[in-house]
Amino acid sequence: MDNFIGHKGKSGIDLSMEFNEHLKGMGVKVIREEVASLERTNTGFLVNGEKFSHVVLATGTIPKELNIPKALYFIEKPSALDNKDVIIIGGGDLAYDNAVRIRQAGANVTILLRGEPKANLSLLEEARKLGIKEIRGDLKEMMFDGEFYRFGYVKYHAVAIFIGREPNRSLIEDLGEIEVDLPSFSTSIKGLYIVGDAALGTLSQTALASGSGLAAAMHIAKTVRSE
Ligand SMILES: Cc1cc2nc3c(=O)[nH]c(=O)nc-3n(C[C@H](O)[C@H](O)[C@H](O)COP(=O)(O)OP(=O)(O)OC[C@H]3O[C@@H](n4cnc5c(N)ncnc54)[C@H](O)[C@@H]3O)c2cc1C
Repeated sequence: MDNFIGHKGKSGIDLSMEFNEHLKGMGVKVIREEVASLERTNTGFLVNGEKFSHVVLATGTIPKELNIPKALYFIEKPSALDNKDVIIIGGGDLAYDNAVRIRQAGANVTILLRGEPKANLSLLEEARKLGIKEIRGDLKEMMFDGEFYRFGYVKYHAVAIFIGREPNRSLIEDLGEIEVDLPSFSTSIKGLYIVGDAALGTLSQTALASGSGLAAAMHIAKTVRSE
């Protein structure tokens, strides 16, 4: 985390642990559970069957996918790719960041680009210093034989795809077209707010995500007081 002011060098995980501790200290109930259903009722919402008057959706983003079998979209354990030949598709920060992570963990990494790389200069320099190869080509040439991926004459053990992310609004897909109103982050559905990357998409920044949550919280407090 380089650009969330006051938190230089802190990892996203450490930061979220700190947020969690802060919330606990303020008496906020935190439940660790996958939300499988969000339904609208006459008076509010049912979230996993439990009633709420307001919902703030902060579900972040999901990766854009390609039709390549068994491709990786998230690398949880870089060491699992030690000594493997890995081809990464994508040319932005996420592609280069993951390329560097798995290279440092011992993988042989090639990045497949469509045009010029769009990652920031320090990531590009680091990738090049680590000997990560950059190639250009048409994805249509990629073949999978059930075990290896082939691109041109070269064989790879794994393909990882980082071609961008999109707002994760899958929980509210069935609620129809929803407009987000700024600066409150309220929506065209009474009581529903969408904040963070789920609202802002490519403007993905921690400061904006926490600010939008605060804007929603303040709007809810004001609405509840005036009801
Ligand atoms: C590699 C990388 C580096 C980054 N570096 C920086 C940086 O240096 N500085 C910066 O400001 N920003 C950075 N960002 C962006 C920053 O991480 C995001 O803007 C921020 O985390 C968005 O917060 P959010 O709460 O909207 O979403 P997220 O942090 O993505 O959180 C969404 C949460 O919702 C949960 N969720 C989703 N669906 C469900 C469900 N059905 N049930 C229960 N939970 C669910 C997810 O598990 C996740 O915990 C980076 C992002 C990435 C990927």
